[in-house]
Amino acid sequence: MSVLSEPVQKKAGCERLQGTGVSEGLVVGNAFRVDHGSYVMPDRRIQTSEIGAELDKLRRAMEMSKKQLEEVRQNLAQTLGADHAEIFDGYMMIVEDPSLFNLARKIMEKELCCVEKAFSAAIDSFCKEMDKLEDEYLRERSADIRDVGERILRNLIGEVVDAPLLPPSDGVEPEHWIVIADDLSPSAAARMNPDRVAAFLTSTGSRTSHTAILARALGIPAVVAVNKQSLDAIEDGTLLALDGTAGEVYVHPDEQVLRIFDERREAQEVLLNHYKAESNYPVETLDGYQACLVANVELPSEALNVRQRHNVGIGLFRTEFLFINGMNLLDEEEQFKAYKSTVEAVKPYSVIFRTLDIGGDKFLSQLKMPHELNPFMGMRAIRFSLSQPNIFKTQLRAILRASAFGKVRVMFPMISTLEELEKALRILDEVKAELKRDHIEFNDQMDVGCMIEVPAAAMLAEKLLKHLTFFSLGTNDLVQYSLAVDRSNPHIGYLYQPAHPSIIRMMKNVVDVALSNDKWVSVCGEMGGECLYTPLILGLGIHELSMSPVSLPSVRMVIRSIKMHEAEDLVNYSLRCGSAQEVQEECKRFLQRVCPELVAKNV
Ligand code: PEP
Ligand code: MG
Repeated sequence: MSVLSEPVQKKAGCERLQGTGVSEGLVVGNAFRVDHGSYVMPDRRIQTSEIGAELDKLRRAMEMSKKQLEEVRQNLAQTLGADHAEIFDGYMMIVEDPSLFNLARKIMEKELCCVEKAFSAAIDSFCKEMDKLEDEYLRERSADIRDVGERILRNLIGEVVDAPLLPPSDGVEPEHWIVIADDLSPSAAARMNPDRVAAFLTSTGSRTSHTAILARALGIPAVVAVNKQSLDAIEDGTLLALDGTAGEVYVHPDEQVLRIFDERREAQEVLLNHYKAESNYPVETLDGYQACLVANVELPSEALNVRQRHNVGIGLFRTEFLFINGMNLLDEEEQFKAYKSTVEAVKPYSVIFRTLDIGGDKFLSQLKMPHELNPFMGMRAIRFSLSQPNIFKTQLRAILRASAFGKVRVMFPMISTLEELEKALRILDEVKAELKRDHIEFNDQMDVGCMIEVPAAAMLAEKLLKHLTFFSLGTNDLVQYSLAVDRSNPHIGYLYQPAHPSIIRMMKNVVDVALSNDKWVSVCGEMGGECLYTPLILGLGIHELSMSPVSLPSVRMVIRSIKMHEAEDLVNYSLRCGSAQEVQEECKRFLQRVCPELVAKNV
């Protein structure tokens, strides 16, 4: 949301640190270091006869951890509401799951070491597997397991687990602290008092970590992934200026920095007021063309926020993320509960559930999937679901059952052939027939669509559409597969070009096919949330844009500032271009003209 993203020049005595901004806000406050504190790990040899007693100790520590987590969960539910406390449901699942316990027992039996050592080794081995994953979100779930494991371990050793995080208020010391830590566990973040903690600053973490999600929920600005050495050098009490949007931190900010922070604060306030005023108006262009904004979410807990804060539905629910906290696959009942709560949270708006997109860079430790040389081209998404009909059917049953409680749509990811789509639809029909036979309610008319993220599907749109109600353009993968550029490889990031004329042409083909058949198209890749491309997307005739919730206000603002015929001219111009750079330059000129306030962020 920041409009002044130019970094302040580094000056003598004022060091600038760059990290990742994960929770918006500008704060000037004093540093306070929070360390997990070290403990001495017992390292005893035991006799086989002692194993039973050692396991009892572990059971008690797990029970105690469960109670403490329940307490944290309840406190959080009181402060923030039940939806945010749901993060701790995942924690409860970890503490209740027998896998860690069983692994610790095996290690103890084999090595005849004490339970503390065995349990610590069990956590390490479990998390090491998850740490190898490329997917950022999945790696973060390994951090959750470590957090819960650490708590159980401390309970085993008899350490204080939930010690207060800040010094007691004495009315003299500063009241607003910027909490610094290598890593801040969600349990620690949940114990922060937003009245006294002005911001978080950590050397690890990412946008999708639960701590970042909680920081946003608590409204505490946060910057993560700052160089560890630089953070270690900051002493308690040091004055810091932190920008949670730009991901910048200034150590010992001087007058110039403080003045610029004031200017940024003013600019953000103006923009926020503008967004607030705008949010009451319909999402339509200056010449009355209506658009529909919806959100991308990964967890049911985000659904309520999307509905309450942004008053929109869900255009992409990435269901695979539901499976990540647990160590077992979710059964039908568990999935149904999650889907139903999401549907009820966004009522009267709709939810598009995307069936599992496992594979590529998203793997589940529960599924022993064979190693692949080229996983993005391999057993991914619908290919995986079709190869595991039982898992696929269970998911479809749960989604269909949820369709009896609100407006549900379903879509299949990574369709590349007509046969794949037909097979998926046949399985959907089978599941419907089973539900009817069992007299279980569902919406027989539920909309079914597919994602267009493989060039083959974009070119074959006409054939695919005969069986569907809508398409959703997954530009993240469409760009990756069209331009042969790995979306997660920073070394070839310069080739990752959503504005490449070939992408615009493919999108146009898909939209033209849909519109001439009275069907609709949505875009749910990151391109849909980049306001630089909003005029282009609208000009193509796409009426539904699904994006990360933080992008909703700026995209809404662009839509309300443009005229449709100008957006169509932009598309025609882009279709004549030979390079992404030409298209991008024209998009910038367009945005500069209609919404100059937003340009600084996008240049
Ligand atoms: C996409 O590919 O654009 C998309 C939305 O799917 P994901 O990012 O989950 O692969
Ligand atoms: Mg995709």
